[in-house]
Amino acid sequence: MRIIQDALAAPEQTVTRDAFYPTLERILILAPHTDDAELGCGATIARLVEAGREVYLAAFSRAEASLPLGSKPNRLGEEFVKATDTLGIVEERAVIYNYPVRELTYHRQEILEELIALRCKIKPQAVLLPAATDLHQDHQVVHLEGVRAFKDITVWGYELPWNHVTFSAHAFVTVQLRHLQKKWDALKCYESQFELGRSYFSWEFIAGLARVRGTQVHEQYAEAFEVIRVKC
Ligand SMILES: [Zn+2]
Repeated sequence: MRIIQDALAAPEQTVTRDAFYPTLERILILAPHTDDAELGCGATIARLVEAGREVYLAAFSRAEASLPLGSKPNRLGEEFVKATDTLGIVEERAVIYNYPVRELTYHRQEILEELIALRCKIKPQAVLLPAATDLHQDHQVVHLEGVRAFKDITVWGYELPWNHVTFSAHAFVTVQLRHLQKKWDALKCYESQFELGRSYFSWEFIAGLARVRGTQVHEQYAEAFEVIRVKC
């Protein structure tokens, strides 16, 4: 009887918190604007950093033209440095370019060349970028050029619901409350965006979306991604 009970017992839990994509060592995240990566996949970044992975982040615009009146031009750049530091991204792994907001489409070739340079330097095994259905004009440029530059490796699209009519949630990265808290702490560095009253800069929204995505996979919290390409 004892033997039968043992056989029916749940197997010992062997999954560790480092089990997420164990072969992924270097992950590059592409953000059209300074806050997009934190908003789209901040909790995933926190989980990857905690798991000891090399996380790189490239933002393409400091969005100087979208700041509250009277702000100094590099305000979002300074907020980006604080936010990435809060997430635990090593300083040298977070880069910011200064293309003008809403005009990335006029700089597509230069952006592609920056991406090729990043590919050669970092040699990432996976890239997270805006999803294909993101309607923001700058996000479309980073999506298209990103897929073009990294079409031979794993590419996932992150979710920014206010920019989507539709979003295909193919993949779910489960996260713990501590990862979500890190995401929120990073977002709180963007004081300029709170001043502008962005509705998605709220704990209620961040936690609510993570709870919805978590519920879809029977977990408490998750972030959802569109799977564009997988290489494993
Ligand atoms: Zn953006």
